[in-house]
Amino acid sequence: MDCIFCNIVAGKIPSDIVYQDEEVIAFHDINPQSPVHMLVIPRKHFTSLNDLTDKEKPLMGRIIATANRLAKEEGIAESGYRLVINCGRQGGQLVPHLHLHIMGGRQLSGQLG
Ligand code: 5GP
Ligand code: ZN
Repeated sequence: MDCIFCNIVAGKIPSDIVYQDEEVIAFHDINPQSPVHMLVIPRKHFTSLNDLTDKEKPLMGRIIATANRLAKEEGIAESGYRLVINCGRQGGQLVPHLHLHIMGGRQLSGQLG
């Protein structure tokens, strides 16, 4: 198993886990781009958004709901934050295991690249 996030799910690579349930886990990004920068991932491996089917609609709802809850817990819900899912090479996805970025705690640029 050479997927870095599957290894985090399996506990083979340490991470700073902030939330977990039977379907998702969330942890702090190792290279934060903002004062708050966490990742929410499904436990099951999906390479990217392109792997999803209608079956994963509840899973994606859970991932967004987890981000919402963590934003409140980290105190950035009111000041505002950004959720990002990069998909594929030109989308800037470096880790090929679906993940949602939660970023906040500073003024983020209005540009989307
Ligand atoms: P991507 O560019 O694929 O959307 O984002 C991947 C993110 O995963 C990056 O922000 C990167 O810092 C983070 N990351 C990569 N490897 C690790 C790791 O081993 N542990 C943690 N916590 N984050 C990682
Ligand atoms: Zn994986």
